[in-house]
Amino acid sequence: MLELLHAARVLDRAGFLPASDGNLSARGDDGRVFITRSDVEKRALTEDGFVALSLDCKSSPGASSEWPMHRALYRARPDVNSVLHVHSPFLTAFACAHRIPSVNLLAESCASVGPIVLVDYRAPGSEELAQALLTASMTAGVYLLANHGAVAVGAKVREALHRLERAEFLAHVEWLATALGGGVPLNAASIRELQRGRGDRC
Ligand SMILES: [Zn+2]
Repeated sequence: MLELLHAARVLDRAGFLPASDGNLSARGDDGRVFITRSDVEKRALTEDGFVALSLDCKSSPGASSEWPMHRALYRARPDVNSVLHVHSPFLTAFACAHRIPSVNLLAESCASVGPIVLVDYRAPGSEELAQALLTASMTAGVYLLANHGAVAVGAKVREALHRLERAEFLAHVEWLATALGGGVPLNAASIRELQRGRGDRC
């Protein structure tokens, strides 16, 4: 819970959670998932801003409307213990352009963001959107939701948070590099070296 509150503060200060947008969750020790309540402002989030739900629970009136997306990821991916969904400007811009930032532009993203995939547009909060994520990838670190926003997953809240921050930074840098004529990706040997030593060392 404390890690989720920290993530909410970081993401809010970064401007990734306008109004009451976005939703954050983590799998607890008892298997239930703590997820932010519906329509809660993350800038003032406290422990009361979460509900704990069983993965058998298909819907809950108090929980975020994106519970189906979180639930589907936890049910399908045992490697995922945290799901963070935001409307950060640069990743959302890429999602609106139906483009994926190149993780091979930056050493940090290459080593630790994991695959970034684009998910076909489906209505926010729908079961169809939840299924579209799983169809897009069962191994992605970051999902771009077409014409909507971004989702990062991780084995821990910290991993999902760092993936999200680094993916947003990558998208921002790629946009700037494009204005300079285009970024030059790392070569294959450098990518292999980074992936062998995958982690936070960059
Ligand atoms: Zn959203």
